Amino acid sequence: MNIHEYQAKDIFRKFGIPIPPGEVARTPEEAEAIARKFGGTVVVKAQVHAGGRGKAGGVKLAKTPEEVKSTAAQILKLRIKDIPVEKVLVTPAADIASEAYVGIIVDRVSKKAVFMVSPAGGIDIEEVAEKTPEKIVRHPVDPRYGLQSYEAMNLAFFLYKDVKQARAAAKILQQLYAAFMASGASLAEINPLVTTPEGEVVALDAKMVIDDNELDRLPDIEALRDESAEAPSEVLARKANLTFIKLDGNVGCVVNGAGLAMATMDLVKYYGGDPANFLDIGGSSNPEKVVNALRIITSDPNVKAILFNIFGGITRTDDVANGIVTAINENPLKVPLVIRLTGTNDEIAVKILKENGLAAMTDMDEAVQKAVSLATGGKAT
Ligand code: GDP
Ligand code: MN
Repeated sequence: MNIHEYQAKDIFRKFGIPIPPGEVARTPEEAEAIARKFGGTVVVKAQVHAGGRGKAGGVKLAKTPEEVKSTAAQILKLRIKDIPVEKVLVTPAADIASEAYVGIIVDRVSKKAVFMVSPAGGIDIEEVAEKTPEKIVRHPVDPRYGLQSYEAMNLAFFLYKDVKQARAAAKILQQLYAAFMASGASLAEINPLVTTPEGEVVALDAKMVIDDNELDRLPDIEALRDESAEAPSEVLARKANLTFIKLDGNVGCVVNGAGLAMATMDLVKYYGGDPANFLDIGGSSNPEKVVNALRIITSDPNVKAILFNIFGGITRTDDVANGIVTAINENPLKVPLVIRLTGTNDEIAVKILKENGLAAMTDMDEAVQKAVSLATGGKAT
C-alpha cells in the first residue's frame, strides 16, 4: 500500500525526524489560508502516489499567499503519471545547501532491510545508481540488533564531513529504521535530506510503501489508505478478496493459484502476447469470485481477449464454470473468451459451459496461443 508524503511525514515526525511543519489543502483557497498562517515563502506539493513530482511540475515554491493560491490552482489541475492531483501539501520552504538521499528497502537476496545512502540526493536515485554507483553505499541491517550507533555514524560520514551534521544524520537514520520497522514498511525514504545554510539537517520529502501483508496487525496504518488515489480495478479486487495487479497488455488472465498465474503470463509472453493483468482467484473459488474477476477485467478497455486457465484441485471447475455463466448473463462480453480447464469436476464444468454455448479446452499451450491470436487479431504466434 502506498501512502502520501504528508502521511509518511506524520509518521517520521513521531519518531523524531526533523521535518518542517505542513498542512494539506484540497482547494486553492485552503492553500492560501495555510500559507498566510505560516508566513514567508512556502512550497506547494502535489500529494499523489507517484515519484518525480518535482520534474512533473508538482512541487513549486511560492512567495506570497496570492501566489500560493494560483500555484495551488495550477497543481490541483495536474495529472502526474496519469493520477489526478486532489490534495496539496503546503509547507514552509527551507533554504537548501546540499541534498542527500537516505532510504531503506527490503532486499530479498540478503533477506534483510538494507540502507541505501547517497550524498547525491534530490534527483532520481535510479539514475545515480546507474551512472555513478560509487556515490551510493548499501548497508544491510541485522534484524536482531537494528541499526547500531556506530553503523549509523559510518553511513552518516559518507554523507557529511562535518561531525555535527554526521551526528544529526546518524540519529535520523536510526529514527528512520524505527519508523520503517514499526509501520510494516517495505520501503522508507527521504529524498532530499537537506542541510540548510545554518548547518541544520532536515527531511524535505518522505516516502513510505507498506507491505500489504502487515496491514491486518496495523489498523492505524491501514486507516491511512486513500482509495481515491488507487487504481479503481485494484480497489475492486481487494474488496472481492482477489489478488490482482494491473499490467499494460491486452490479454486478460483469470487463473487459480499464483504459480499457475505466473506460468500463464509467461506463456502469454512466450506466444507473442502481453498480459493485461495478474489475477489469482485463489484456491477455493466460489462462483461469486469469478463474477467479480470478470467484472474487473472487462472494465479495462485495453483487454482484447480473456483467458481462463483453471487447474481444478481444491478449486472445483464446475464452480468456475457457473461463475463464468452467471457473469456473462449479467454482463455479456464484448471480447472473445478462451477457457481452459482440467481437474476436479471438469466433466460437469464442460457440460455447464456447453449448455450455455461456451467451449472449453484442456491444453494450456493451445488455449494461450488461441487467446493471444484473438487479442492480436492473428498477428502474433
Ligand atoms: P519529488 O520530486 O516527488 O521527489 O518531490 P520532492 O519533495 O523531493 O521535491 C523535489 C525538489 O524540490 C527537491 O529535490 C528540492 O530541490 C525542491 N524542494 C522541495 N522542498 C523544498 C524547499 O523547502 N525549499 C527549496 N528551496 N526547494 C525545495
Ligand atoms: Mn523527493
